Amino acid sequence: MKEKRRKKVSAESLKKAKNFLFFLRPYSITYGVGFVFLIGSSVVSISIPYLLGKILGMDPKMAGEDWQWFDMNSLYGVLSIIGLALPLQAIFSFFRIYFFSVVTQNTLRDLRVKAYSALIGSPISFFDQNKVGELTSRVSADLSLLQETLTTTIAEFIRQFIIIGIALVLVIYTSPALALTMLLVIPFVALFAVFFGKFIRKLSKQTQDEAAKSNGILEESLSSIKSLKSFTNEWYEIARYGKATEAIRNIALKTAIWRGVFVAFILVVMFGSVVFIIWRGIELVKLGPENGGITSESFFEFIMMTVMIGASIGAIPDLLTKIQNAIGSTENLMDLINGEQENVAKDGPRQALKLKGNITLKEISFSYPSRKEVNVLHDLSFEVKAGEQIAIVGSSGGGKSTIANLILQFYKLDSGEILFDGKSADSYDLSSLRAEMAYVPQEIILLGGTIEENIRFGKPSATLSEIKEAAKQANALDFINEFPDGFYTIVGDRGIQLSGGQRQRIAIARAILKNPSILILDEATSALDTNSEVLVQDALNLLMKGRTSIVIAHRLSTLKNSDRIIVLKGGKIIESGTHDELSAQSGGAFAQLKQLQAH
Ligand code: ADP
Ligand code: MG
Repeated sequence: MKEKRRKKVSAESLKKAKNFLFFLRPYSITYGVGFVFLIGSSVVSISIPYLLGKILGMDPKMAGEDWQWFDMNSLYGVLSIIGLALPLQAIFSFFRIYFFSVVTQNTLRDLRVKAYSALIGSPISFFDQNKVGELTSRVSADLSLLQETLTTTIAEFIRQFIIIGIALVLVIYTSPALALTMLLVIPFVALFAVFFGKFIRKLSKQTQDEAAKSNGILEESLSSIKSLKSFTNEWYEIARYGKATEAIRNIALKTAIWRGVFVAFILVVMFGSVVFIIWRGIELVKLGPENGGITSESFFEFIMMTVMIGASIGAIPDLLTKIQNAIGSTENLMDLINGEQENVAKDGPRQALKLKGNITLKEISFSYPSRKEVNVLHDLSFEVKAGEQIAIVGSSGGGKSTIANLILQFYKLDSGEILFDGKSADSYDLSSLRAEMAYVPQEIILLGGTIEENIRFGKPSATLSEIKEAAKQANALDFINEFPDGFYTIVGDRGIQLSGGQRQRIAIARAILKNPSILILDEATSALDTNSEVLVQDALNLLMKGRTSIVIAHRLSTLKNSDRIIVLKGGKIIESGTHDELSAQSGGAFAQLKQLQAH
């Protein structure tokens, strides 16, 4: 994603930006109405300085004393037109802002949901390769940029063009000679503005990238706050963050300096040309209309229109920069939205498959997409019959968790096949297949809400009594009832206010509620003390009964009841058999592991 961000606005990025119009389409009528008000308010806003110019250029003695409605040659006539234009301007502006905001907020709502659903629909490999902190800050930065663009920037941009267009026509109408002088200045300013706008855009993109990096650090350290504190690494992280913020400051300051140079230069050019044009104009007024010159009324109209044109042109480069940024943002969002997606159910649960629970791993080889060169599993095959309990043991890094990841279809295999009830995993609907499995990982991260919400996660449609029953079977009811708020106890961010064993039992209650045909436990009890392990193990035994279970175990003593034990080393099966068979093989890997644990 990072490299893509730095891309220039190209034909391809414009195409992606066009995709974005798809999100605007449902609101095109509202947007159109907004545009009508925008045009209205632009026309009125240019007419006011024009009329003011007219008044300023009038000879006060000739302006007349009587109130003359809408007479362009009398002071009060012109004033009456202005008096009408002002409330009209107010109405137009209000509705312009209102309708544009309606469209923007609707579009943003749609985009937020779309981006969120694309994000959580992304395969796990996506999250291996992207930092969550950077992703979230980027998405929200992109969205807020788009919000500004849709509500104000585009409107301003169009308004400036309308103003320039009308003002130009009026200017040419009042004095072609003066208009020509002015037009000689404009292309010069415009070219310069485009060149500089591009340069500043590049700089501000760098600022955004640096900001995203620093947010990444923030997110990282906050999510591992306990280890950070235990290692007393506050100073180190503060220094790291300090360095990142220093980088933001430096690049932002560099941007500011160039922006300042830009604005200063534009102002000088603008005022310089105004002075020049005023001088030329005075010469023409001195000549008088009868000698090819102009009236003082025309002159003031002309000055007012020139000021408007100058101001509008001055505003355009900044707007252009913003629009270019927004195109970059849409490109990022579109990359995310159109990124690789898992085929998961996003609109509601799918029909239950009711698998029996036979699993076959057939000659599977696998390497993680983020580390393609390391082959984690080699030609691995084994079979689990429905209802069997299979244990996988072996030293750390041997590929045990990887097997769990693959059965859960978190990654695609390099070669080989995983079958469920004799049919290839690919032939099932992904969500339905996962719905048949419950996964209890070693490190359990709960949602920030209540205990009740966390158990309900296993089956959103569950009733409270089902939840209580699940908690009871998971041996969790006692400790839950000890909390003053019971099931409505807040577990804290990621479940931090509960102990490891409590969290684990909540995860088991969740799995019980889900009532899966396949159960995958990844070192589910390794972090527990003996006391809570007994409680958790009881709960697990109950949970495993009658279900296909794959138990990745650390403590080998808990495996006596397993139908089969597979010993994994370096991504290969080196032994397999029952607990008693493997223990009896003196010199075997399992026997050795067991002996080590006996000490
Ligand atoms: P175990 O659970 O047996 O301790 P794992 O299955 O977690 O081992 O890991 C097996 C190998 O795969 C290790 O070398 C580990 O470094 C690597 N690995 C695990 N997860 C990832 C990942 N998300 N991306 C890249 N490599 C990984
Ligand atoms: Mg593991």
